[in-house]
Amino acid sequence: MLRISRQLLEATLAYLRSELPSEGVGLWIGQRGRTVRVEQLENRHSTPQTHYTADPAEVLRILKSLDATGMELVAIYHSHPKGAAVPSESDKAQAFWRVPYVIVAMENENVRAWKLPEVEEVVLYVDE
Ligand SMILES: [Zn+2]
Repeated sequence: MLRISRQLLEATLAYLRSELPSEGVGLWIGQRGRTVRVEQLENRHSTPQTHYTADPAEVLRILKSLDATGMELVAIYHSHPKGAAVPSESDKAQAFWRVPYVIVAMENENVRAWKLPEVEEVVLYVDE
């Protein structure tokens, strides 16, 4: 299960809009699938309009900072500036974390979550 408040989802969307026309990427941090914080990452891919790469060192720095807090990585999100909120071939190929991958289609702001590389949809609850 994956949960986020409407407010934190809006913060995620605002960041992803600001990254257009590139894909934006970041982390949802929380506990037991419930998001309490949104982190933004830099997209370092050479063609960021259609791909994303997060700096592993930046991800590890954030995860290390969580050790003492009881918080954990809840999901990894990124945007698709064009196209649907479904995983691309490269999304599947680079998915090695065992947390849901949230994909936002920027043309209609449809938000879906996936277990990858299996491509099983994960239910996302948005708390109003
Ligand atoms: Zn993607």
